[in-house]
Amino acid sequence: MPLILDGRVVRTQKERSLRSIVETLDRKPCLGIIQVGSLAPSNAYIAQKKMCAEAVGFDVDHVQLPGTISEYDLLKKIEEFNTDPDVDGVLVQLPLPSHIRPQAAIDAINPIKDVDGLTKVNSGKLYANDPSGLVPATARGVMSLLEHYNIPVAGKHALVIGRSQIVGRPIALALMHRNATVTIAHRHTKNLIELAQQADIIIAGAGQPGLITDEFVHEKSVVVDVGITPIELPEKKLVGDVDFALVSPKVAAISPVPGGVGPMTVISLIENVLQAYQSRDQFLD
Ligand code: NAD
Repeated sequence: MPLILDGRVVRTQKERSLRSIVETLDRKPCLGIIQVGSLAPSNAYIAQKKMCAEAVGFDVDHVQLPGTISEYDLLKKIEEFNTDPDVDGVLVQLPLPSHIRPQAAIDAINPIKDVDGLTKVNSGKLYANDPSGLVPATARGVMSLLEHYNIPVAGKHALVIGRSQIVGRPIALALMHRNATVTIAHRHTKNLIELAQQADIIIAGAGQPGLITDEFVHEKSVVVDVGITPIELPEKKLVGDVDFALVSPKVAAISPVPGGVGPMTVISLIENVLQAYQSRDQFLD
């Protein structure tokens, strides 16, 4: 049987240590969430973030704006959070309605409070391997999951499938900074199966259910499934990119969906809020 990379176990452990840190602080860290409209998946993601933040003793200031709000008014709201001394971390829940440019909203966030790590300042810091930056939560979560289970990364060949700004690219950079040899694959990659067979670690972040089958892996493969796709049939559930039933008996370690990277992403966001709180303290000293 493979080692199951259980994100819920790691989240519980991290929640405990965050709670004990919060008890030592003069003020509770606060996460500001800006939502535009009320898409059902966004409501669900925000509920998870709120629940986790409150479970560790953080405050949450969730502002829900009408889906018709102008980009200008959204940027004004972001600026209010930027300058609010009681708010440590700010995130704008994506996706936004099509009349608002997502990068304009992201770039309006003060990089010190950018707990999704998506501003150009934090992307640049990740590129430069500057630890003062805020790293996108999924990348931080994948690295913490590997670390928790003592999966060696240095010198290993990691294949990252997906190159998005929010998932694939930051994960690839984070792995490279930990001395992995990284291959980044995407929709145009021709020989995905051969690349996967050569890899020690496969990080699947394509959003394509069933993409990774037993042909892709070998007995020493470590497979981390970032994909989350809701399906309706044969039953309503969330599935990853990996065919877990086919792949899990053939590999050394694997993360499930749900219960793998998902909980790690949420707890890593909360860790980013604490990091933002601590950087603000240093900045204001
Ligand atoms: P995206 O659509 O922006 O990017 C997908 C990437 O995968 C692209 O780079 C694309 O080229 C690549 N890709 C698609 N099909 C491919 C294929 N057949 N072969 C090789 N590469 C392929 O999506 P995203 O925002 O990066 O999200 C990816 C997945 O991760 C989605 O399922 C999303 O729901 C999930 N996700 C999970 C978490 C989490 O916490 N677990 C967080 C964010 C996103």
